[in-house]
Amino acid sequence: MSDPHSDVQLVSDEGMRLDGRALDELRPIRIEAGVLERADGSCYLEWGSNKVLVGVYGPREVHPKHMQNPLKGIVQARYNMAAFSVSERKRPGPDRRAVEISKITSEALECVVLTDQFPRTTVDVYIEVLEASAGTRCAGLTAASVALADAGIPMKDLVVALASGKINGKLALDLGKAEDNFGEADVPFAIVPRTGEVVLLQMDGHLTKEEFETILEMNVRAAAQVYELQKQALVKRYSAYAEPAPGEEQAAQPVQAVVASGSPERFHEPKIAAPPPTDVVVDEILEAVEATTPAAPGEEPDVNADEDEAEGGDI
Ligand code: ADP
Repeated sequence: MSDPHSDVQLVSDEGMRLDGRALDELRPIRIEAGVLERADGSCYLEWGSNKVLVGVYGPREVHPKHMQNPLKGIVQARYNMAAFSVSERKRPGPDRRAVEISKITSEALECVVLTDQFPRTTVDVYIEVLEASAGTRCAGLTAASVALADAGIPMKDLVVALASGKINGKLALDLGKAEDNFGEADVPFAIVPRTGEVVLLQMDGHLTKEEFETILEMNVRAAAQVYELQKQALVKRYSAYAEPAPGEEQAAQPVQAVVASGSPERFHEPKIAAPPPTDVVVDEILEAVEATTPAAPGEEPDVNADEDEAEGGDI
C-alpha cells in the first residue's frame, strides 16, 4: 500500500479501473482440478494474471516424528513464488513473506480439514505461484482447498479467499497489481461458505469502520461466486468417473475439467441458492475488531495494544 494521497489514477471518472473492470467486478477466474498425475490431489487456478498450481500429498506419516499429534493430523502448506513469477526475477527460496503466507494458509486449511480422522499424519500442500499479479495468497488458498477435495481429504467445506480494498478513495473488489501497489488499503479474506466462518482476515492500509464493513460484505458476496466455480471444477473432474446408466455407453469425457468464468465478462449475482449469512459474519467480525481497538484518551487502556503493534497492525 502506498501513500494515501498517491496521484496515480486507478479509477476513471466513469468508475472504470485500469483493466476495464467496474469497482464491484472480479477478475476472470479459471479452475481445473486433478491436473497432476503423481500428486494425490491437485488444482490449477488462473485468477486474472495470477497462475497457481497446487499439489497435495497425504495423509502420510509425519517426519520428524516429534511433530506427530496422537489426537489429530496436521496440515502443512508451503507457498512458493517461482523466480519467473514476477517481472524482475525473484530470488528463489523461502523468504519472510513466504513463511507468513504458508503459516496463514496452513491455519486456514486446518479449520476445514477433519484432522481428527487421521491422527499422527500430515497432509502436505505445495502451492507454486507461476505468475503473480496481486492476491496470490488468496488464489493459492482457494486452489489449495480444491486440491485437498480432489485428493479425497475429508473436509467440512471448501475455503474461498479474495482480497478487496480501497483505491483513489473508492472501495474496489479483488485488487489487481497496480491497485495493490498504489491503493490505500487491501483486505485479504477467506471464508468457509457453508458455515460462514472467516478463516483468514488481514488488513494493510487504513479504512474507516464503515469502509471495512462494506469491504467485508463485498468479499462475502463475491466469495459465493468463486465457491460456485470451485464446486463446478470438482463436479466436472469426478463426472469423468460416473457410472453409465444401464444400456448406455460410457460417454467419452476428459479426465481434466475446465471451469472458466467466461472470458472477461462481468460477474453478476451469485448463482448458488443460499448466500452466506453476510450480516451475521460482518457483525461478528466487527465485534471482534472493536474488542481489540485501542481505547481513546481517557478511556480504559487496551491491554493488547503492544501485541497488535508488534504484529504490524494486522487484524
Ligand atoms: P499477495 O500476492 O497475496 O497480494 P502481497 O501483497 O505481499 O501478496 O504482494 C502483492 C504482489 O506483489 C504479488 O502478488 C506479486 O505480484 C508482487 N510481489 C510480491 N513479492 C514480490 C517479490 N519478491 N518480487 C517481485 N514482486 C513481488
